[in-house]
Amino acid sequence: MKQGTLFIAPIGARNKREHLFREILSLNPDNNFSSVLFLGPNNFVLSETRRQFFSYLKKQHNRSAYVPFQTFTIKQLALQDYEITLPSPPLNLRGGRGELLQTSSRPSVISELIRPLLLCEILKDTNIGYARILSDLYRKTGHYILDKSFAQIKEEISSLIFEEKARERAVRAIEVLESYEDELKGKNLVDPVNVLRDVGAGPCACPGQPQGIAPTIVIDGFFDPTPLEMELVKTLLDRTENAFVLAEEGTEILQGIRSYQPGMETKQLTPTLTREKTGCYTYPAMEDEVEGIVRNVKKLLLEGMKPWEITVSFSVLSKYLPMTRRIFKKHGVPLNIGEYDLSTTGPVTALLELLNCIVEDYPRNALLSFMTSPYFPNIPDALKERAVSYSYRAGIIKGKQSWLSLKGVLQARHEERVSEAEKERLDDFHKEISRIIAVIENIKQKKDLLPFINEFEAAIDKWGFYDYFKSPEKNLPGDDTADRLISLFSELRHFAGIYSQGPGTAGTPEFYLRYLLQDMTGFDERKDGVKIIPYELAAGTEPEAFFFGGVLEGDFPSRPDIDPILPEKVKKALGMPDLEHYMNRQKLYFNRLLNISRHDPVFSCPAAEGDKIFLPSPFLDWEKMLSPIEFNIFTDEDVLVRKGSAQKPESSTSAETYFDNNSAGILRSIIGAMSKRYFRVTDLDYYRKCPFRFYLDRILGLEMEKPPRFEVEYRLWGTLAHRTMELLFKDREWKMDEFEDRLFKSLEQCLKEIPIAEFWADVTREIFRNLLPLLGKQETDLRLKGYIPWLVEEKIDAEIEGVKFRGKIDRIDRKIQDSRFKSQDNPPFGKGGQGGFSDDSVILLDYKTGEIDRKSLQLPLYSRMWQETHSQQVDEAGYYSLKDGKLTSYPPKKKSMEEFIREALEEAAVLITQMKKGMFPAEPVTNACRNCDHSALCGKG
Ligand code: SF4
Repeated sequence: MKQGTLFIAPIGARNKREHLFREILSLNPDNNFSSVLFLGPNNFVLSETRRQFFSYLKKQHNRSAYVPFQTFTIKQLALQDYEITLPSPPLNLRGGRGELLQTSSRPSVISELIRPLLLCEILKDTNIGYARILSDLYRKTGHYILDKSFAQIKEEISSLIFEEKARERAVRAIEVLESYEDELKGKNLVDPVNVLRDVGAGPCACPGQPQGIAPTIVIDGFFDPTPLEMELVKTLLDRTENAFVLAEEGTEILQGIRSYQPGMETKQLTPTLTREKTGCYTYPAMEDEVEGIVRNVKKLLLEGMKPWEITVSFSVLSKYLPMTRRIFKKHGVPLNIGEYDLSTTGPVTALLELLNCIVEDYPRNALLSFMTSPYFPNIPDALKERAVSYSYRAGIIKGKQSWLSLKGVLQARHEERVSEAEKERLDDFHKEISRIIAVIENIKQKKDLLPFINEFEAAIDKWGFYDYFKSPEKNLPGDDTADRLISLFSELRHFAGIYSQGPGTAGTPEFYLRYLLQDMTGFDERKDGVKIIPYELAAGTEPEAFFFGGVLEGDFPSRPDIDPILPEKVKKALGMPDLEHYMNRQKLYFNRLLNISRHDPVFSCPAAEGDKIFLPSPFLDWEKMLSPIEFNIFTDEDVLVRKGSAQKPESSTSAETYFDNNSAGILRSIIGAMSKRYFRVTDLDYYRKCPFRFYLDRILGLEMEKPPRFEVEYRLWGTLAHRTMELLFKDREWKMDEFEDRLFKSLEQCLKEIPIAEFWADVTREIFRNLLPLLGKQETDLRLKGYIPWLVEEKIDAEIEGVKFRGKIDRIDRKIQDSRFKSQDNPPFGKGGQGGFSDDSVILLDYKTGEIDRKSLQLPLYSRMWQETHSQQVDEAGYYSLKDGKLTSYPPKKKSMEEFIREALEEAAVLITQMKKGMFPAEPVTNACRNCDHSALCGKG
């Protein structure tokens, strides 16, 4: 190095980078900065520097066209250098560890993401958690222990750990790392850490520089580089002509440069901010906290501050990020998220859900998320629009077979009401879902990684995944998710190619792909939004305003996860970062964060989340906890909600008509049309329970589709139970001792007609098995009373007092003459046996799988309708419970059948009159709201 300047910045100094820019400009007055190489710790610092340099030139020198300088992180520089320079000889510095092979074909560099997968192969295990810990240990030993081989590290560990099991565990881990290096050598591969170690100690060249090393090297943004990174910095400083370094007081980079270049010219910058303490706003919960931050940000924007002049950070950013995205979007405030976990974003989630379908046999939610995802535009609308509703109605939990039988289930369940148009839609749906499942099955059959990846990628391409990202109106500028995914697939192909037989000792193809998808990170290239970044990055920025949320005990400072391999004292002895190092580092960050912004920083924390109470960070002054200020800042959503509430009718309980004259007229004509044909008795009963609910469900056809729970869904159980009883008594020529056999045969036939997942079929069998003794007793009792089954599912129409009614009676039992049939021994069913029917009376039965409604109009109206159309007298009517096997008979004691019918007819007449008038008040009978989904509309329930 011919000349160099070290700028020392105290905490609180501002415009620090301008000192570097001035130097760059003075050396390159011709607007060509291509001879300058800027080295920073991460992509965020690099892109910030490029942006700041552009605005500095524009503002200070009115220049906007120039040849920019190159920007690299240390890792990027080392990898580029590896591509352009010859391999170096093995170096003593590394204790012989990890030297690159002098082979005719240069080893290819694997990605850091692949390291845990290779470790899994070596361990022959899919414990990716342990492989990740080993991978991190490999990185740290490579970065912090520069002069020892693994054999030496192992020896040192053995002498430092006395407890036998702990020692064996640590030694075993180092041995796995040795095997990893052997595996790399054997396959002519190199780990990126070793590329860095090689560059740090050998000759190096800067990419694009004809003279090898860039004539001007600028270093900025580092706080505590690792010893290996420091080696590379020293190598570059050694060989360049001009070096400019900006380092903060008290950092390891400053210490490293000073010890290495004591003669470098130093310039001390002056601090403009010296804050030592701050207050902290306490919000009731995390959601309120983020709301509070956004409202504060919005206020600043309204006052004229630019979004990119504001930085927001959280002690644990990943915990807050989804909520922050949502709330900022709600307020219309643009964001620029520094680096984020891509696995929680829409496109990667859709791919992970597709993998779930492959691995876990099409769970409902996974298949729905995948099919309805906007990232698969070529999946037909027939699926996107109807999959949720159909699958809820069919009660699907999971299973290929359940999806393929969806059409059959829905048709069987709604046999009466399925219109021709709906049948066509169901056919369409069935055709399309069968196609999708066929493609997924095809991927599933590929058991080797390479064909699996090829098939998987071809399928998502066919469903339009990559096309989505080509569409400018859908894809945000700077979103490079598609490119990242393409390179992820190529990494995986590379990994598959490393093993001639393909990997597989450790896991299935889905395992490898899932792991890589879950570890993807993204980097937001948009620069015009409020910066949302981890606090480590925020500490290097100089915003106008800074918000720091989630400042809680346990999160800031946070303890690193317990290291299951190396005890803290061993790490300290080996020179690796230990717990104390992490705790001190966070205290330093806290001091920096107090002084990065021109406005006073706003620190905040939630007081609780659910039942969990939080304490503020011990770094804060607990005497200075503040209550947040309420701003009158609202979102469009807030305004709409208020407007909606204001429009709500004063009272929804009135028996008055709900509707204006026009709507009431339309309603009257609908009801009039209904009455010209038939009133279904079940509809009338539904109206009786709550007119408003009848209006919503039966007139408007509104239905809340709810995801099926992990149990035989109530409506499905009802259908199965009714159909089984129907099949059982349809065939009448059998004896009571065949009851059990016939019941289960009917159930099996029913399960064939209405296919459900095998698990639920077993549950249904179990329910009937438990019911069997109760049903047997009930059937015997009926026979003892002299009745045997006669008709099932009997449709009935009748006009009574000018009103046409229609209904269906579940079962009609008829009185027999022959006393032999009253015997308990073995009375047969059938047409009255030898003695025949007495031909004078019946009982009407209605099966119930739920609670019995004693005020229901069904039984009295059916009884009257029967009498109107048949000669047999109705002795009684009853609800036959398929829940507890009991029979509840009507009319009740002290009431004759005539009275029972008369009261029901009078009530039916009143209900019909109200209906015709368009009266649909929310007036529920007892408990009707319990199973109703419309409480949001009527305000009850
Ligand atoms: S919640 Fe109750 S009052 Fe409201 S519509 Fe449903 S049953 Fe009627």
